[in-house]
Amino acid sequence: MAHGQSAPKIARIAALAGGVGAAKFLRGLALCVGQQRLDVVVNTADDEEFYGLRVCPDLDTVIYTLGAVANPRTGWGIARDTFATLGALARFYGRPWFALGDRDFATHLFRTSRLREGAALSEVTAEIASKFAVRARVMPMSDEPVRTFITVRGSAPMPFQEYLVRSRARGRVERIEFHGLKRARALPAAVAALKNAAAVIIAPSNPLVSVAPMLEFGAIKAALRSACERAAAISPIVAGRPVKGPLDRMMRGLGHEVSVLGVARLYRKLVSVFVIDHADRRYAQAIAELGFKPVVTDTIMRTPLRAARLAETVLRALNFGG
Ligand code: GDP
Repeated sequence: MAHGQSAPKIARIAALAGGVGAAKFLRGLALCVGQQRLDVVVNTADDEEFYGLRVCPDLDTVIYTLGAVANPRTGWGIARDTFATLGALARFYGRPWFALGDRDFATHLFRTSRLREGAALSEVTAEIASKFAVRARVMPMSDEPVRTFITVRGSAPMPFQEYLVRSRARGRVERIEFHGLKRARALPAAVAALKNAAAVIIAPSNPLVSVAPMLEFGAIKAALRSACERAAAISPIVAGRPVKGPLDRMMRGLGHEVSVLGVARLYRKLVSVFVIDHADRRYAQAIAELGFKPVVTDTIMRTPLRAARLAETVLRALNFGG
């Protein structure tokens, strides 16, 4: 390169991500454009403390998947992990309800000790990602804690993991709240990544508990709004149902229509492209009427190759030249 010339700027892609659904998509996206180009902003509102350790399920799922060590059967945790520590802890704490593998524990121990030393969550996350040879930039939505609480009919508000895992998402969801937002600030690097990206993608994640906490930050919402023309979202609802998880119960409970249209309404003015499955093609016209460019394709990511095809379709719809 001639002296004085600056290096050509490589177009980057930013994504908003929850856990397993998002991670599968990101692996496909990485197959298309390479991990180095990805800035991934991850929900941390479903973080929880177990045995005094800070566990960040969505961050870890994204890192383990991009680091190619995720358990392929569950989508979360580490492949071929063992559970001896959890078994031994039962002596002191009683029967566990949240599965943490032995290798997985190492991540939580490292994270917790670094946080205790005063490191920021974003700093520790970058360290963990690099130890798993992840080349995408994986960032928490905030360095400060935010916590999702779910209220089901007849019970007091429960922290998210208690609702999802301990009580298996039973009951009628009446309320979803995010605690700690007043004291939290969106990660500045995440906001900058969204603003500077050539394409922004809301991964197929739960809009009410994985994406909503990120959009609660004014700075993230504003960055997405300003990127709307180059932004897309992929529906986590396929054929009128979530591919997995309790999204249908949450949507119904909060009065949203359980369909791709119900999800699209949540992303109005934030993205211009809305991606739905062939199974929901009859909604394409209604989605166009909401102001989106509808894209109809295969959205079930059974294999990394299928996820890569989906990512390619999304990038094409956004005219991402790279
Ligand atoms: P987690 O995976 O439960 O940690 O949480 P996420 O917020 O990532 O969301 C899971 C959502 O992703 C669910 O609502 C699923 O319906 C959706 N999902 C999972 N796998 C797929 C898939 O292959 N295709 C699509 N379109 N959505 C998916």
